[in-house]
Amino acid sequence: MDKIFELIEQEEKYQAETVRLIPSENFASEAVRAALGSGLTNKYAEGYPGKRYYQGNKIIDEIENLAIERGKKLFGVEHLNVQSYSGSPANSAVLMALVEPGEKICGMKLSAGGHLTHGHPRITFSGKYFDSAQYDVDSEGRIDYEQLVEFVKTEKPKLIFAGTTAYPWILDWKKFREIADSVGAWLVADISHISGLTVTGVHPSPNEYVDMVTSTTHKMLRGPRGAVIGVTKRGISSAKGFGILDLEKRIDRAVFPGLQGGPHMNTIAAMAVAFEEDIQPEYKNYTEQVAKNAKALAESLKSKGLRVYGTENHLMIVDCGLEKGKEAAVKLEEAGIIVNANTIPHDQGSPFRPSGIRLGTPAMTTKGWKEKEFEEVGKRIGAIIKN
Ligand SMILES: *Cc1c(COP(=O)(O)O)cnc(C)c1O
Repeated sequence: MDKIFELIEQEEKYQAETVRLIPSENFASEAVRAALGSGLTNKYAEGYPGKRYYQGNKIIDEIENLAIERGKKLFGVEHLNVQSYSGSPANSAVLMALVEPGEKICGMKLSAGGHLTHGHPRITFSGKYFDSAQYDVDSEGRIDYEQLVEFVKTEKPKLIFAGTTAYPWILDWKKFREIADSVGAWLVADISHISGLTVTGVHPSPNEYVDMVTSTTHKMLRGPRGAVIGVTKRGISSAKGFGILDLEKRIDRAVFPGLQGGPHMNTIAAMAVAFEEDIQPEYKNYTEQVAKNAKALAESLKSKGLRVYGTENHLMIVDCGLEKGKEAAVKLEEAGIIVNANTIPHDQGSPFRPSGIRLGTPAMTTKGWKEKEFEEVGKRIGAIIKN
């Protein structure tokens, strides 16, 4: 056997035998994996359904249209682009479509739980080619919306990202809208982490308040690695105010030919499979269980005397002591519990030595875990960190 297949087998065994608590990870179904590994990987299809630059795309068009149709229903949006290679390029496409280089954008600080693509200074595309203003959280790790009102009025960004990767609280979309409206900014909800919760109503949906949504498809949604960009009804009417006739076309053009070439059709087919799974009632039960399990894990850790930030969603941040996050993550890995080190709100350690870990419940909930299992693993984690 080729060495690589031996390694794949080892990795899959390792994934199955360990406790997976990284909140952005999950286990995709056999059906999703079958679509990903299919012959669709052989096909070039630059363009969009009905407007391809290569011949032979009759069936491919049907596949992409089906993915779009199912995705629009799942996300509840007017227009959906399914071609972004992943979450980061999807956010880049939104910036390319709506903001000129050097103009101001606004997002949550990385250290507060935001994402790199929301304007992290200097080292990222969004921070280097745009003028980025970043907001922080309060001592509890929550957005201080009153402070954000003033911050945005001073900074006057053209576009605001509302979205997080390490934020355990509910986001107030209505407040974000009021803030964006105060300066006439585009409002984009990056729901990559929480889309499983927003499409099932476990977390409020942003659709009524935001112009666009971006989401990865491989996190709680359990699809392939990829992303979607959705335009809401609200976004279409905002666009008229900005003098833009066709926001949908602008987004599509930013993805292709703006940033990308040929779409990954195997990924798009796998998205269609996942979207169908996510529309089923069982998926709603799953996301409800994800949230219940997160509460059980957080309570268990707190009962061990740990400071836990959260939770109102699927994840939490645990304080491990000054600059002790990485050490805790390594010790947990040795015990077969896979997590990631993470900054805590207003971390006093260096960014390279964060003081916390981030834990989430989506993956093990897919494996069938309920509150009882999470309470038990919480006690084990507590004992390891306290040591
Ligand atoms: C995961 C994530 C992304 C980036 O997705 P990649 O697929 O890793 O590029 C962007 N935004 C948020 C909020 C995320 O959680």
